[in-house]
Amino acid sequence: MLSDKDRIFTNIYGQNDWRLAGARKRGDWDNTAAILARGRDAIVNEMKASNLRGRGGAGFPTGLKWSFMPKNSDGRPAYLVINGDESEPGTCKDREILRHEPHKLIESALIASFAMGAHTSYIYIRGEFFNEARHLQIAIDEAYDAGLIGRNACGSGWDFDFHIHRGAGAYICGEETALLESLEGKKGMPRMKPPFPAAMGLYGCPTTVNNVESIAVASTILRRGGAWFSALGRPNNAGTKLMAISGHVNRPCVVEEELGVPMREIIEKHAGGVRGGWDNLLAVIPGGCSVPVLPASTCATVLMDYDSLRAERSGLGTAGMIVMDKSTDIIRAIARFSRFFKHESCGQCTPCREGTGWMMRMMYRMVEGRAEPEEIDMLDQVTRQVEGHTICALGDAAAWPIQGLIRHFRPEMEARIAQYKQAHGLSGLAPTP
Ligand code: NAD
Ligand code: SF4
Repeated sequence: MLSDKDRIFTNIYGQNDWRLAGARKRGDWDNTAAILARGRDAIVNEMKASNLRGRGGAGFPTGLKWSFMPKNSDGRPAYLVINGDESEPGTCKDREILRHEPHKLIESALIASFAMGAHTSYIYIRGEFFNEARHLQIAIDEAYDAGLIGRNACGSGWDFDFHIHRGAGAYICGEETALLESLEGKKGMPRMKPPFPAAMGLYGCPTTVNNVESIAVASTILRRGGAWFSALGRPNNAGTKLMAISGHVNRPCVVEEELGVPMREIIEKHAGGVRGGWDNLLAVIPGGCSVPVLPASTCATVLMDYDSLRAERSGLGTAGMIVMDKSTDIIRAIARFSRFFKHESCGQCTPCREGTGWMMRMMYRMVEGRAEPEEIDMLDQVTRQVEGHTICALGDAAAWPIQGLIRHFRPEMEARIAQYKQAHGLSGLAPTP
Protein backbone atom coordinates (compact mmCIF):
# COMPACT_ATOMS: atom_id res chain seq x y z
CA MET A 1 0.00 0.00 0.00
CA LEU A 2 1.18 3.54 -0.73
CA SER A 3 2.75 5.21 2.29
CA ASP A 4 1.51 8.63 3.37
CA LYS A 5 4.86 10.23 2.56
CA ASP A 6 4.38 9.38 -1.11
CA ARG A 7 0.87 10.80 -1.37
CA ILE A 8 0.50 13.88 -3.55
CA PHE A 9 -3.00 14.74 -2.43
CA THR A 10 -2.79 15.45 1.29
CA ASN A 11 -6.26 16.94 1.64
CA ILE A 12 -8.32 14.77 -0.68
CA TYR A 13 -10.93 14.11 2.02
CA GLY A 14 -11.20 17.78 2.93
CA GLN A 15 -10.04 17.17 6.49
CA ASN A 16 -7.89 20.32 6.41
CA ASP A 17 -8.27 23.91 5.29
CA TRP A 18 -8.49 24.06 1.48
CA ARG A 19 -7.92 27.82 1.29
CA LEU A 20 -4.57 29.49 0.65
CA ALA A 21 -3.34 29.49 4.27
CA GLY A 22 -4.02 25.74 4.61
CA ALA A 23 -2.56 24.93 1.19
CA ARG A 24 0.63 26.80 2.04
CA LYS A 25 1.01 24.82 5.26
CA ARG A 26 0.89 21.64 3.18
CA GLY A 27 3.66 22.89 0.87
CA ASP A 28 1.76 24.36 -2.06
CA TRP A 29 3.15 27.65 -3.43
CA ASP A 30 6.48 26.98 -1.69
CA ASN A 31 9.05 28.97 -3.71
CA THR A 32 7.23 28.38 -6.99
CA ALA A 33 9.47 31.03 -8.56
CA ALA A 34 12.45 28.67 -8.15
CA ILE A 35 10.67 26.00 -10.19
CA LEU A 36 9.89 28.53 -12.94
CA ALA A 37 13.52 29.73 -12.86
CA ARG A 38 14.63 26.30 -14.08
CA GLY A 39 13.27 27.24 -17.50
CA ARG A 40 10.80 25.73 -19.94
CA ASP A 41 12.93 22.87 -21.27
CA ALA A 42 14.03 21.71 -17.83
CA ILE A 43 10.42 21.56 -16.63
CA VAL A 44 9.22 19.64 -19.68
CA ASN A 45 12.17 17.24 -19.41
CA GLU A 46 11.45 16.59 -15.72
CA MET A 47 7.83 15.80 -16.59
CA LYS A 48 9.03 13.42 -19.29
CA ALA A 49 11.36 11.76 -16.77
CA SER A 50 8.42 11.24 -14.41
CA ASN A 51 6.73 9.01 -17.01
CA LEU A 52 3.36 10.45 -15.97
CA ARG A 53 0.61 9.27 -18.29
CA GLY A 54 -2.54 11.34 -18.80
CA ARG A 55 -5.01 10.75 -15.99
CA GLY A 56 -8.15 11.61 -17.98
CA GLY A 57 -8.44 8.07 -19.29
CA ALA A 58 -6.33 7.68 -22.44
CA GLY A 59 -2.92 7.53 -20.70
CA PHE A 60 -0.98 9.56 -23.28
CA PRO A 61 2.46 10.60 -21.86
CA THR A 62 2.03 14.06 -20.33
CA GLY A 63 5.61 15.37 -20.72
CA LEU A 64 5.61 14.31 -24.36
CA LYS A 65 2.33 16.14 -24.92
CA TRP A 66 3.79 19.30 -23.39
CA SER A 67 6.82 19.00 -25.70
CA PHE A 68 4.53 19.15 -28.76
CA MET A 69 3.82 22.81 -28.08
CA PRO A 70 5.72 24.90 -30.65
CA LYS A 71 8.58 27.07 -29.40
CA ASN A 72 7.73 29.67 -32.00
CA SER A 73 4.03 29.97 -32.73
CA ASP A 74 4.10 32.77 -35.36
CA GLY A 75 2.77 35.34 -32.95
CA ARG A 76 -0.23 33.18 -32.03
CA PRO A 77 -0.89 32.89 -28.29
CA ALA A 78 -0.56 29.47 -26.70
CA TYR A 79 -3.13 28.06 -24.26
CA LEU A 80 -3.33 25.47 -21.54
CA VAL A 81 -6.87 24.13 -21.29
CA ILE A 82 -7.69 22.00 -18.28
CA ASN A 83 -10.40 19.43 -18.72
CA GLY A 84 -12.60 19.43 -15.62
CA ASP A 85 -15.70 18.17 -17.42
CA GLU A 86 -15.58 14.97 -15.41
CA SER A 87 -18.71 13.14 -16.57
CA GLU A 88 -17.69 9.52 -16.93
CA PRO A 89 -20.09 7.40 -14.84
CA GLY A 90 -18.28 6.02 -11.80
CA THR A 91 -15.68 8.79 -11.88
CA CYS A 92 -15.43 11.52 -9.26
CA LYS A 93 -11.72 12.07 -8.62
CA ASP A 94 -11.29 15.50 -10.24
CA ARG A 95 -14.28 16.66 -8.22
CA GLU A 96 -12.32 15.99 -5.02
CA ILE A 97 -9.30 17.94 -6.30
CA LEU A 98 -11.48 20.92 -7.17
CA ARG A 99 -13.21 20.77 -3.81
CA HIS A 100 -10.28 20.17 -1.52
CA GLU A 101 -7.00 20.88 -3.36
CA PRO A 102 -7.73 23.86 -5.63
CA HIS A 103 -4.39 25.58 -4.92
CA LYS A 104 -2.43 22.51 -6.00
CA LEU A 105 -4.24 22.79 -9.34
CA ILE A 106 -3.71 26.54 -9.74
CA GLU A 107 -0.01 26.40 -8.88
CA SER A 108 0.53 23.47 -11.25
CA ALA A 109 -1.43 25.29 -13.98
CA LEU A 110 0.94 28.24 -13.66
CA ILE A 111 4.00 25.97 -13.95
CA ALA A 112 2.56 23.98 -16.85
CA SER A 113 1.47 27.10 -18.72
CA PHE A 114 4.91 28.65 -18.29
CA ALA A 115 6.56 25.46 -19.56
CA MET A 116 4.39 25.57 -22.67
CA GLY A 117 4.65 29.29 -23.29
CA ALA A 118 1.02 30.02 -22.36
CA HIS A 119 0.04 33.17 -20.53
CA THR A 120 -3.59 32.06 -20.27
CA SER A 121 -5.19 28.91 -18.99
CA TYR A 122 -8.87 27.98 -19.08
CA ILE A 123 -10.47 25.30 -17.01
CA TYR A 124 -13.69 23.81 -18.37
CA ILE A 125 -15.69 22.57 -15.39
CA ARG A 126 -18.67 20.26 -15.60
CA GLY A 127 -21.79 22.39 -15.12
CA GLU A 128 -23.10 20.23 -12.29
CA PHE A 129 -19.95 20.97 -10.25
CA PHE A 130 -21.39 24.20 -8.86
CA ASN A 131 -19.71 24.15 -5.45
CA GLU A 132 -16.45 22.91 -6.93
CA ALA A 133 -16.36 25.85 -9.37
CA ARG A 134 -17.12 28.17 -6.46
CA HIS A 135 -14.22 26.78 -4.40
CA LEU A 136 -11.87 27.10 -7.33
CA GLN A 137 -12.93 30.69 -8.02
CA ILE A 138 -12.30 31.62 -4.37
CA ALA A 139 -8.84 30.02 -4.61
CA ILE A 140 -8.12 31.82 -7.90
CA ASP A 141 -9.07 35.14 -6.29
CA GLU A 142 -6.80 34.37 -3.34
CA ALA A 143 -3.92 33.57 -5.70
CA TYR A 144 -4.43 36.84 -7.63
CA ASP A 145 -4.60 38.85 -4.38
CA ALA A 146 -1.37 37.25 -3.12
CA GLY A 147 0.47 37.96 -6.41
CA LEU A 148 0.86 34.24 -7.08
CA ILE A 149 -0.85 34.56 -10.46
CA GLY A 150 -1.63 37.56 -12.65
CA ARG A 151 1.06 40.09 -13.61
CA ASN A 152 4.57 38.90 -12.70
CA ALA A 153 3.25 35.70 -11.14
CA CYS A 154 5.19 34.76 -7.99
CA GLY A 155 7.71 37.49 -8.91
CA SER A 156 8.89 35.35 -11.81
CA GLY A 157 8.40 37.94 -14.53
CA TRP A 158 5.77 35.67 -16.17
CA ASP A 159 2.21 36.96 -16.57
CA PHE A 160 -0.45 34.35 -16.10
CA ASP A 161 -4.25 34.46 -16.11
CA PHE A 162 -6.54 31.63 -15.13
CA HIS A 163 -10.24 31.52 -16.10
CA ILE A 164 -13.11 29.19 -15.26
CA HIS A 165 -15.64 28.19 -17.90
CA ARG A 166 -18.62 26.18 -16.73
CA GLY A 167 -20.13 23.52 -19.00
CA ALA A 168 -23.81 22.89 -19.46
CA GLY A 169 -24.15 19.17 -18.90
CA ALA A 170 -23.12 17.48 -22.15
CA TYR A 171 -20.88 14.42 -21.70
CA ILE A 172 -19.37 14.90 -25.16
CA CYS A 173 -17.89 18.26 -24.11
CA GLY A 174 -15.33 16.24 -22.12
CA GLU A 175 -13.86 15.09 -25.44
CA GLU A 176 -10.99 17.52 -25.88
CA THR A 177 -11.88 18.97 -29.27
CA ALA A 178 -15.61 19.20 -28.47
CA LEU A 179 -14.52 21.01 -25.32
CA LEU A 180 -12.54 23.49 -27.41
CA GLU A 181 -15.52 24.05 -29.70
CA SER A 182 -17.73 24.66 -26.68
CA LEU A 183 -15.17 27.02 -25.15
CA GLU A 184 -15.22 28.97 -28.42
CA GLY A 185 -18.98 29.36 -28.01
CA LYS A 186 -19.99 26.75 -30.55
CA LYS A 187 -21.92 23.49 -30.33
CA GLY A 188 -19.77 20.90 -28.55
CA MET A 189 -18.97 18.57 -31.43
CA PRO A 190 -15.62 16.76 -31.73
CA ARG A 191 -13.19 17.78 -34.48
CA MET A 192 -11.25 15.39 -36.67
CA LYS A 193 -7.72 14.70 -35.39
CA PRO A 194 -5.11 15.44 -36.73
CA PRO A 195 -4.54 18.30 -36.48
CA PHE A 196 -4.02 17.76 -32.76
CA PRO A 197 -4.60 20.72 -30.45
CA ALA A 198 -0.87 21.48 -30.10
CA ALA A 199 -0.88 22.45 -33.79
CA MET A 200 -4.39 23.92 -33.95
CA GLY A 201 -6.38 24.15 -30.75
CA LEU A 202 -8.33 26.92 -29.08
CA TYR A 203 -9.12 29.74 -31.56
CA GLY A 204 -6.77 27.98 -34.00
CA CYS A 205 -3.81 28.48 -31.64
CA PRO A 206 -1.35 25.99 -30.10
CA THR A 207 -3.13 24.39 -27.16
CA THR A 208 -2.57 21.59 -24.72
CA VAL A 209 -5.61 19.98 -23.15
CA ASN A 210 -4.87 18.10 -19.93
CA ASN A 211 -7.08 16.46 -17.34
CA VAL A 212 -7.37 18.10 -13.88
CA GLU A 213 -5.42 15.32 -12.14
CA SER A 214 -2.64 15.30 -14.78
CA ILE A 215 -2.04 19.00 -14.14
CA ALA A 216 -2.55 18.94 -10.36
CA VAL A 217 0.27 16.46 -9.77
CA ALA A 218 2.84 18.54 -11.70
CA SER A 219 3.94 20.86 -8.86
CA THR A 220 4.69 17.92 -6.56
CA ILE A 221 6.53 16.02 -9.29
CA LEU A 222 8.69 19.06 -9.98
CA ARG A 223 9.46 19.52 -6.28
CA ARG A 224 10.28 15.88 -5.59
CA GLY A 225 11.69 15.04 -9.01
CA GLY A 226 10.61 12.97 -11.98
CA ALA A 227 12.70 10.02 -10.74
CA TRP A 228 10.72 9.87 -7.47
CA PHE A 229 7.39 9.66 -9.31
CA SER A 230 8.71 7.24 -11.89
CA ALA A 231 9.96 4.87 -9.18
CA LEU A 232 6.41 4.44 -7.90
CA GLY A 233 4.09 1.99 -9.65
CA ARG A 234 5.39 -0.34 -12.34
CA PRO A 235 7.43 0.16 -15.52
CA ASN A 236 5.33 1.99 -18.14
CA ASN A 237 2.70 2.48 -15.43
CA ALA A 238 4.44 4.99 -13.21
CA GLY A 239 3.30 6.91 -10.19
CA THR A 240 0.26 7.25 -8.04
CA LYS A 241 -3.32 7.67 -9.24
CA LEU A 242 -6.61 8.71 -7.74
CA MET A 243 -9.08 5.84 -7.91
CA ALA A 244 -12.80 6.11 -7.22
CA ILE A 245 -14.61 3.03 -5.91
CA SER A 246 -18.40 2.98 -6.09
CA GLY A 247 -21.25 0.50 -6.29
CA HIS A 248 -21.71 -2.52 -4.05
CA VAL A 249 -18.89 -1.87 -1.59
CA ASN A 250 -19.23 -1.12 2.09
CA ARG A 251 -17.39 2.20 1.94
CA PRO A 252 -17.37 3.98 -1.44
CA CYS A 253 -14.38 6.32 -1.61
CA VAL A 254 -11.73 8.08 -3.66
CA VAL A 255 -8.19 7.01 -2.81
CA GLU A 256 -4.70 7.74 -4.06
CA GLU A 257 -2.75 4.55 -4.68
CA GLU A 258 0.29 3.37 -6.60
CA LEU A 259 -0.45 2.05 -10.06
CA GLY A 260 -0.08 -1.71 -10.12
CA VAL A 261 -1.90 -2.24 -6.82
CA PRO A 262 -4.13 -5.36 -6.92
CA MET A 263 -7.78 -4.51 -7.59
CA ARG A 264 -8.81 -6.78 -4.73
CA GLU A 265 -6.61 -4.84 -2.30
CA ILE A 266 -8.20 -1.55 -3.34
CA ILE A 267 -11.70 -2.92 -2.81
CA GLU A 268 -10.96 -4.68 0.47
CA LYS A 269 -8.53 -2.29 2.16
CA HIS A 270 -9.91 1.05 1.06
CA ALA A 271 -13.58 0.48 0.23
CA GLY A 272 -14.43 -1.88 3.09
CA GLY A 273 -14.89 -4.88 0.83
CA VAL A 274 -17.72 -6.11 -1.38
CA ARG A 275 -21.18 -6.00 0.17
CA GLY A 276 -21.72 -9.53 1.51
CA GLY A 277 -18.04 -10.48 1.15
CA TRP A 278 -15.66 -11.14 -1.74
CA ASP A 279 -17.49 -14.31 -2.77
CA ASN A 280 -20.55 -12.16 -3.45
CA LEU A 281 -18.70 -10.24 -6.19
CA LEU A 282 -20.10 -10.58 -9.71
CA ALA A 283 -18.04 -8.12 -11.75
CA VAL A 284 -16.16 -4.82 -11.78
CA ILE A 285 -15.93 -2.13 -14.42
CA PRO A 286 -12.42 -0.87 -13.64
CA GLY A 287 -12.22 2.52 -15.33
CA GLY A 288 -15.50 4.33 -15.85
CA CYS A 289 -18.21 2.99 -18.13
CA SER A 290 -16.11 3.35 -21.31
CA VAL A 291 -14.12 0.17 -20.63
CA PRO A 292 -15.20 -3.48 -20.69
CA VAL A 293 -16.49 -5.20 -17.56
CA LEU A 294 -14.38 -7.89 -15.86
CA PRO A 295 -15.76 -10.99 -14.12
CA ALA A 296 -15.01 -11.73 -10.45
CA SER A 297 -12.47 -14.43 -11.34
CA THR A 298 -10.28 -11.85 -13.11
CA CYS A 299 -10.84 -9.20 -10.44
CA ALA A 300 -9.28 -11.51 -7.85
CA THR A 301 -5.82 -11.20 -9.40
CA VAL A 302 -5.72 -8.26 -11.83
CA LEU A 303 -3.55 -5.22 -11.09
CA MET A 304 -4.87 -1.68 -11.43
CA ASP A 305 -2.69 -0.24 -14.18
CA TYR A 306 -2.80 0.46 -17.90
CA ASP A 307 -0.96 -2.64 -19.11
CA SER A 308 -2.42 -5.24 -16.72
CA LEU A 309 -5.99 -4.20 -17.49
CA ARG A 310 -5.29 -4.00 -21.21
CA ALA A 311 -3.93 -7.55 -21.07
CA GLU A 312 -7.36 -8.55 -19.74
CA ARG A 313 -8.99 -6.73 -22.71
CA SER A 314 -10.27 -3.94 -20.48
CA GLY A 315 -8.62 -0.65 -19.50
CA LEU A 316 -7.61 1.60 -16.62
CA GLY A 317 -9.57 4.51 -18.12
CA THR A 318 -10.29 6.97 -15.33
CA ALA A 319 -9.77 4.28 -12.62
CA GLY A 320 -13.40 4.85 -11.62
CA MET A 321 -14.24 1.34 -10.38
CA ILE A 322 -17.89 0.28 -10.46
CA VAL A 323 -18.29 -2.78 -8.25
CA MET A 324 -21.29 -5.06 -8.80
CA ASP A 325 -22.34 -7.88 -6.50
CA LYS A 326 -24.38 -10.93 -7.40
CA SER A 327 -27.69 -9.09 -6.97
CA THR A 328 -26.86 -7.15 -10.16
CA ASP A 329 -28.66 -7.81 -13.42
CA ILE A 330 -25.47 -7.41 -15.45
CA ILE A 331 -27.32 -7.38 -18.79
CA ARG A 332 -29.53 -4.53 -17.58
CA ALA A 333 -26.53 -2.66 -16.15
CA ILE A 334 -24.73 -2.70 -19.50
CA ALA A 335 -27.97 -1.84 -21.32
CA ARG A 336 -28.23 1.23 -19.10
CA PHE A 337 -24.79 2.33 -20.30
CA SER A 338 -25.92 1.79 -23.90
CA ARG A 339 -28.81 4.17 -23.25
CA PHE A 340 -26.39 6.68 -21.79
CA PHE A 341 -24.15 6.61 -24.87
CA LYS A 342 -27.14 6.82 -27.24
CA HIS A 343 -28.31 9.89 -25.33
CA GLU A 344 -24.88 11.54 -25.27
CA SER A 345 -23.86 10.89 -28.91
CA CYS A 346 -23.52 14.24 -30.68
CA GLY A 347 -24.94 12.62 -33.81
CA GLN A 348 -22.29 13.97 -36.13
CA CYS A 349 -21.09 10.65 -37.56
CA THR A 350 -23.36 7.91 -38.82
CA PRO A 351 -21.86 4.78 -37.19
CA CYS A 352 -22.19 6.40 -33.76
CA ARG A 353 -25.51 8.20 -34.29
CA GLU A 354 -27.23 5.10 -35.74
CA GLY A 355 -25.07 2.44 -34.07
CA THR A 356 -25.67 3.64 -30.50
CA GLY A 357 -29.42 3.42 -31.16
CA TRP A 358 -29.12 -0.07 -32.63
CA MET A 359 -26.98 -1.25 -29.74
CA MET A 360 -29.32 0.21 -27.16
CA ARG A 361 -32.43 -1.35 -28.70
CA MET A 362 -30.77 -4.75 -29.07
CA MET A 363 -29.46 -4.56 -25.51
CA TYR A 364 -32.92 -3.89 -24.07
CA ARG A 365 -34.27 -6.89 -25.97
CA MET A 366 -31.45 -8.93 -24.43
CA VAL A 367 -32.52 -7.68 -20.99
CA GLU A 368 -35.94 -9.22 -21.57
CA GLY A 369 -34.52 -12.22 -23.42
CA ARG A 370 -36.72 -11.32 -26.38
CA ALA A 371 -34.17 -12.43 -28.97
CA GLU A 372 -32.65 -15.44 -30.67
CA PRO A 373 -29.32 -16.83 -29.41
CA GLU A 374 -27.76 -16.01 -32.82
CA GLU A 375 -28.54 -12.35 -32.23
CA ILE A 376 -25.85 -12.22 -29.57
CA ASP A 377 -23.31 -12.60 -32.37
CA MET A 378 -25.22 -10.06 -34.44
CA LEU A 379 -25.02 -7.60 -31.54
CA ASP A 380 -21.29 -8.24 -31.32
CA GLN A 381 -20.98 -7.54 -35.06
CA VAL A 382 -22.84 -4.24 -34.67
CA THR A 383 -20.34 -3.17 -32.00
CA ARG A 384 -17.48 -4.02 -34.42
CA GLN A 385 -19.08 -1.82 -37.10
CA VAL A 386 -19.07 1.12 -34.70
CA GLU A 387 -15.67 0.56 -33.03
CA GLY A 388 -12.88 2.41 -34.80
CA HIS A 389 -15.22 3.96 -37.38
CA THR A 390 -16.12 7.21 -35.67
CA ILE A 391 -14.67 10.68 -35.24
CA CYS A 392 -14.15 10.43 -31.51
CA ALA A 393 -13.80 7.78 -28.82
CA LEU A 394 -17.49 7.84 -27.83
CA GLY A 395 -18.23 5.24 -30.51
CA ASP A 396 -15.61 2.88 -29.07
CA ALA A 397 -16.83 3.60 -25.55
CA ALA A 398 -20.36 2.57 -26.54
CA ALA A 399 -19.13 -0.64 -28.17
CA TRP A 400 -16.63 -1.94 -25.62
CA PRO A 401 -18.89 -2.54 -22.59
CA ILE A 402 -21.17 -4.69 -24.76
CA GLN A 403 -18.21 -6.64 -26.12
CA GLY A 404 -17.09 -7.26 -22.52
CA LEU A 405 -20.58 -8.44 -21.58
CA ILE A 406 -20.69 -10.93 -24.46
CA ARG A 407 -17.12 -12.11 -23.76
CA HIS A 408 -17.73 -12.84 -20.07
CA PHE A 409 -21.48 -13.23 -19.63
CA ARG A 410 -22.74 -14.97 -22.78
CA PRO A 411 -24.19 -17.89 -20.77
CA GLU A 412 -26.29 -15.41 -18.77
CA MET A 413 -27.55 -13.83 -22.01
CA GLU A 414 -28.42 -17.24 -23.46
CA ALA A 415 -30.17 -18.25 -20.24
CA ARG A 416 -32.27 -15.05 -20.36
CA ILE A 417 -33.35 -15.88 -23.92
CA ALA A 418 -34.23 -19.46 -22.92
CA GLN A 419 -36.24 -18.18 -19.93
CA TYR A 420 -38.23 -15.82 -22.16
CA LYS A 421 -39.03 -18.62 -24.59
CA GLN A 422 -40.11 -20.90 -21.78
CA ALA A 423 -42.27 -18.23 -20.15
CA HIS A 424 -44.00 -17.49 -23.48
CA GLY A 425 -44.29 -21.08 -24.67
CA LEU A 426 -42.01 -20.42 -27.64
CA SER A 427 -39.83 -23.03 -29.25
CA GLY A 428 -38.94 -21.16 -32.45
CA LEU A 429 -38.35 -17.51 -33.19
CA ALA A 430 -39.05 -14.92 -30.52
CA PRO A 431 -41.48 -12.20 -31.65
CA THR A 432 -39.84 -9.10 -33.08
CA PRO A 433 -40.82 -5.76 -31.53
P1 NAD B 1 -6.94 9.87 -27.41
O1 NAD B 1 -6.13 8.63 -27.28
O2 NAD B 1 -7.48 10.24 -28.74
O3 NAD B 1 -6.04 11.13 -26.95
C1 NAD B 1 -5.43 11.24 -25.72
C2 NAD B 1 -4.62 12.51 -25.71
O4 NAD B 1 -3.41 12.33 -26.41
C3 NAD B 1 -5.30 13.70 -26.39
O5 NAD B 1 -4.99 14.88 -25.69
C4 NAD B 1 -4.69 13.74 -27.77
O6 NAD B 1 -4.68 15.03 -28.34
C5 NAD B 1 -3.30 13.24 -27.48
N1 NAD B 1 -2.73 12.54 -28.64
C6 NAD B 1 -3.04 11.26 -29.00
N2 NAD B 1 -2.31 10.93 -30.10
C7 NAD B 1 -1.55 12.01 -30.40
C8 NAD B 1 -0.60 12.29 -31.43
N3 NAD B 1 -0.28 11.37 -32.36
N4 NAD B 1 -0.01 13.50 -31.46
C9 NAD B 1 -0.33 14.43 -30.52
N5 NAD B 1 -1.22 14.24 -29.51
C10 NAD B 1 -1.82 13.03 -29.47
O7 NAD B 1 -8.11 9.75 -26.35
P2 NAD B 1 -9.25 10.79 -25.92
O8 NAD B 1 -10.37 10.73 -26.87
O9 NAD B 1 -8.66 12.11 -25.62
O10 NAD B 1 -9.70 10.14 -24.55
C11 NAD B 1 -10.37 8.91 -24.48
C12 NAD B 1 -10.43 8.46 -23.05
O11 NAD B 1 -11.14 9.41 -22.29
C13 NAD B 1 -11.12 7.16 -22.83
O12 NAD B 1 -10.13 6.17 -22.71
C14 NAD B 1 -11.89 7.34 -21.53
O13 NAD B 1 -11.34 6.53 -20.52
C15 NAD B 1 -11.67 8.77 -21.17
N6 NAD B 1 -12.88 9.47 -20.74
C16 NAD B 1 -12.79 10.18 -19.59
C17 NAD B 1 -13.89 10.87 -19.12
C18 NAD B 1 -13.80 11.64 -17.83
O14 NAD B 1 -14.84 12.05 -17.30
N7 NAD B 1 -12.61 11.83 -17.30
C19 NAD B 1 -15.09 10.87 -19.86
C20 NAD B 1 -15.13 10.14 -21.03
C21 NAD B 1 -14.03 9.43 -21.48
FE1 SF4 C 1 -20.29 12.58 -32.18
FE2 SF4 C 1 -20.41 9.96 -31.70
FE3 SF4 C 1 -19.15 10.83 -33.83
FE4 SF4 C 1 -18.11 11.27 -31.37
S1 SF4 C 1 -18.38 9.29 -32.35
S2 SF4 C 1 -18.24 12.72 -33.09
S3 SF4 C 1 -20.03 11.57 -30.23
S4 SF4 C 1 -21.36 11.06 -33.41
